[in-house]
Amino acid sequence: MTTNSLILDGAQVADTIKEQLKARIGRLAGQGITACLATVMVGDDPASDTYVRMKGNACRRIGIVSKRIQLAKETTTSELVEVIQQLNKDPLVHGILLQHPVPSHIDERAAFDTISIEKDVDGVTTMGFAQTAFGFGAFPSCTPAAIIAILDAYNISIEGRHAVVIGRSPILGKPVSLMLLNRNATVTICHSKTQQLDQIVKSADIVVAAVGRPKFVQGDWIKPGAVVMDAGYNKGNIGDVDYDACMRNASAITPVPAGVGPVTIATLLKHTVDAAERASMSNQ
Ligand code: NAP
Repeated sequence: MTTNSLILDGAQVADTIKEQLKARIGRLAGQGITACLATVMVGDDPASDTYVRMKGNACRRIGIVSKRIQLAKETTTSELVEVIQQLNKDPLVHGILLQHPVPSHIDERAAFDTISIEKDVDGVTTMGFAQTAFGFGAFPSCTPAAIIAILDAYNISIEGRHAVVIGRSPILGKPVSLMLLNRNATVTICHSKTQQLDQIVKSADIVVAAVGRPKFVQGDWIKPGAVVMDAGYNKGNIGDVDYDACMRNASAITPVPAGVGPVTIATLLKHTVDAAERASMSNQ
């Protein structure tokens, strides 16, 4: 049994990423450019409102413009598509984030796929996902990228290790699985129809929990010495793993909060700055 589990400090990793962005934001300012992230929210879901506000505050703190577009919950797919098309055309906007979930009457895929690939800073478009799968995407989805960034920040090797990802959503489970595969992990993807999940998780060197169920991953599922990455964020600041129980076996583990969450936001800021730099270069 491992007793001294390393706590993977996402807040610190996020601070390092943000510190590195400051000089780049300053250089853009020297060219008269302020990186800008547009966030589109449809409806008034309180959790989404909190996420959008957190992202806006993070932008402003570092000198990125945050443009919030709030749409009524009755907004139609074509109205939403029209708003996104306007943002695509706006040269002052470098990144576009459509807050998920949108109301169920909206064709979310059509809305996501309206975002131009140059501004798809959260890797939500079909093209962005495909580029991530091929391994050359400019902007992989932010939470998967954050998970990889934390592993890299702590020099945790990925190559040759068995990574078990629980969850297969298009924004999290699937892209992180592909990113781990592209880094030469051997990847098993689990989902709600997976049988003997506990046995599969017990064979993992790296466990990624992306389930959306509080304290879902049990301590006795974790192989001694495994690394546990908890992407979950449930009501009451609770992750998808039973943290106290899992850390008894894990060699390293992300806490919730202050694990994957802050790195996800820092990654979004980084992608927005990347997009602004790319736009400025293509205008030269
Ligand atoms: P999601 O779209 O609801 O997907 C959940 C996945 O978990 C699905 O693939 C589902 O399988 C699988 N699953 C559900 N119950 C299961 C079970 N009993 N056994 C095995 N697999 C099961 O959720 P998501 O958007 O990927 O988010 C996952 C978690 O990450 C949530 O806690 C969310 O709050 C969090 N999150 C965090 C961040 C961050 O920045 N930290 C960002 C995004 C999301 P099926 O496909 O078979 O239904």
